[in-house]
Amino acid sequence: ISVVNKIAAGEVVERPASIVKELLENSLDAGATKVSIIVSEGGIREISISDNGSGILPEDLPKAFIRHATSKIRSYEDLFQTVSMGFRGEALAAIASVSSLDLTTKPEGDSAGSHYESVPGSDPVMRDWDGPRGTTIRISNLFKNVPVRQKFLKSPSTEFSHIQSTVLQIALAHPEVTFSLATPERQVLSLPARNSLAGRLVDVYPEFDRNELSEILIEGGELSVNAFVLTPSRIRKDRQNQHLFLNRRWVRHPAFYQAVTSAGHGLIQRDVHLGVWIFLALDPKKVDVNVHPTKKEVRFQEPDRIFALVRRAVTEGIEAFSG
Ligand code: ADP
Ligand code: MG
Repeated sequence: ISVVNKIAAGEVVERPASIVKELLENSLDAGATKVSIIVSEGGIREISISDNGSGILPEDLPKAFIRHATSKIRSYEDLFQTVSMGFRGEALAAIASVSSLDLTTKPEGDSAGSHYESVPGSDPVMRDWDGPRGTTIRISNLFKNVPVRQKFLKSPSTEFSHIQSTVLQIALAHPEVTFSLATPERQVLSLPARNSLAGRLVDVYPEFDRNELSEILIEGGELSVNAFVLTPSRIRKDRQNQHLFLNRRWVRHPAFYQAVTSAGHGLIQRDVHLGVWIFLALDPKKVDVNVHPTKKEVRFQEPDRIFALVRRAVTEGIEAFSG
């Protein structure tokens, strides 16, 4: 295992939930319409993700595990324009450097399927395999070869709750994809494909009624805001229900929380928080998502304009309840 891969692993693979995030993004990039996740012991013992996406051709498979090998960027220019989830070509290499990995994949058409197995420190083994179209990746022995990282893992139930939040964040932004999350003991999430964000939102939060959510859509050329605001009677003391998505990716931005608070100013008491889900679609050239390897932090070229629109959408969403 090269030092470089281990360093990359430290950035990309913090914990089981980061593996689940990277693998789910790969499945979505591969055009999957159905993804199933099974984790045991919070993902510390095993993570298995199956999709019905494009699969990987046998000749491309070894390359997929080489750092900075990505089928998704062709030039430096592309780095700033990419719309796919993955674009760094680091995830599989990083994950394989800190865990045992077992992958079966079958592309569409006549091409052969493959079974690929790797253990840190030895040569990977690849052979022909047959099965349904798509890819299944099984990760085990996480951080066995990096005991210091193993020590930073929390309890299985804590790691599991991180996985569950990760799956929900991704599922919220991809309502047209069927997701399931299970442990060997029980089915935890089962989200059927829906044709709207609203449909997925009420599946994810069965405790909310559809009419407790107002939907505001603001279309503005290369920027659109699709906002959902939860009835102010459901305010809470934390920001658990405040989520920002940019081009279908859950992101963090301090100005988002400020915009929501200022939209509620005067109507909502201090120290309590509205439920707000904002889905932004923005020309990828106007945003830098490469600030952080896990792509959660973003920088906008015109943050003031964007968060003024977010604020307006939230204000209209609150007003919809008093009308
Ligand atoms: P990136 O997603 O940034 O390209 P990854 O290391 O996550 O890098 O994946 C490497 C490559 O492996 C991808 O570019 C893709 O070609 C292939 N790949 C990974 N997972 C899947 C999958 N579930 N279905 C099809 N192809 C996949
Ligand atoms: Mg990827």
